[in-house]
Amino acid sequence: MSILIIGSVALDSVETPAGKIEGGLGGSAVYASLSASYFYSDTRIVAVVGTDFPKEHLELLEKHSVNVDGIQIKQGRTFRWSGTYGKDFGEATTLRTQLNVFATFHPEIPENYKDSEYVFLANIDPDLQLEVLEQVKKPKLVIGDTMNFWISGKRNELLKTLKKVDLLIINDAEARQLAETNNTIEAAKIILTLGPKILIIKKGGDGAMLITKDSYFFAPAYPLTTIQDPTGAGDTFAGGVVGYIAKNDNIEDAILRKAVVYGGVMASYNVEKFSVGRLQELKQEEIEKRFEDFKKMTTF
Ligand code: AMP
Repeated sequence: MSILIIGSVALDSVETPAGKIEGGLGGSAVYASLSASYFYSDTRIVAVVGTDFPKEHLELLEKHSVNVDGIQIKQGRTFRWSGTYGKDFGEATTLRTQLNVFATFHPEIPENYKDSEYVFLANIDPDLQLEVLEQVKKPKLVIGDTMNFWISGKRNELLKTLKKVDLLIINDAEARQLAETNNTIEAAKIILTLGPKILIIKKGGDGAMLITKDSYFFAPAYPLTTIQDPTGAGDTFAGGVVGYIAKNDNIEDAILRKAVVYGGVMASYNVEKFSVGRLQELKQEEIEKRFEDFKKMTTF
């Protein structure tokens, strides 16, 4: 099945208690597409990079069979994000967000992307998410993500995009910020009236929950001791969820539950190394092994 992903392609500078990296490959579309690629999808990215973007990064995506026809190269600097994590590797503190070439970007979907069956609106300007959606013919499922930067900066635009989203994947603090309440369950109920009919709330190291009008499921996070860099965990999680759903071409409850677990498996590997270090070298057996571990962890 085909998956179109619009999101950021970035050069990230990140400091964690385990070390730091300057200008490493990152961005929501990068983490999500690499993660989805492990589910044998035909994954296509729409984004923009500057002339400073290293060619090897595009080659890495292509090596994972990610279609980069929709990544435009524009005069200027690539999107850059920098952030730090505290001792508990919890929420990132954003130090700088430089939109650079994204500030004036208007996506033009290549002809060979227009028939995409699954569309993942990864974290990026909600106006761009909508522009992409308007150019796709008839997607089977629209999945969305966002973050505090857009919830506070472009709330009205985001609410407009959300009306077209079927499945929203968002973290706990952002869900509460979006719904303007301190209670996560109440936030979920409010969000389910804004457009999405399926909601996945990520709780970082505490797992993730799946909520629909008539179902509730909770998956823990994988118990890890080696964490180096949590950057991209949310996008990698979402890439796993979307990849697994697209592979099965089905959104019945049992598939959604497994998708949440696969999302957790992918995110748990991603945080083991900086940037996409771990994600680029993963083996299929490793994914299945951790999926089985999750089963053992939660059966009683
Ligand atoms: P995550 O850790 O999954 O929430 O996402 C981290 C990634 O999001 C990093 O690689 C950043 O480049 C990217 N990012 C950070 N801020 C933004 C933003 N405002 N819009 C789009 N992408 C962003």
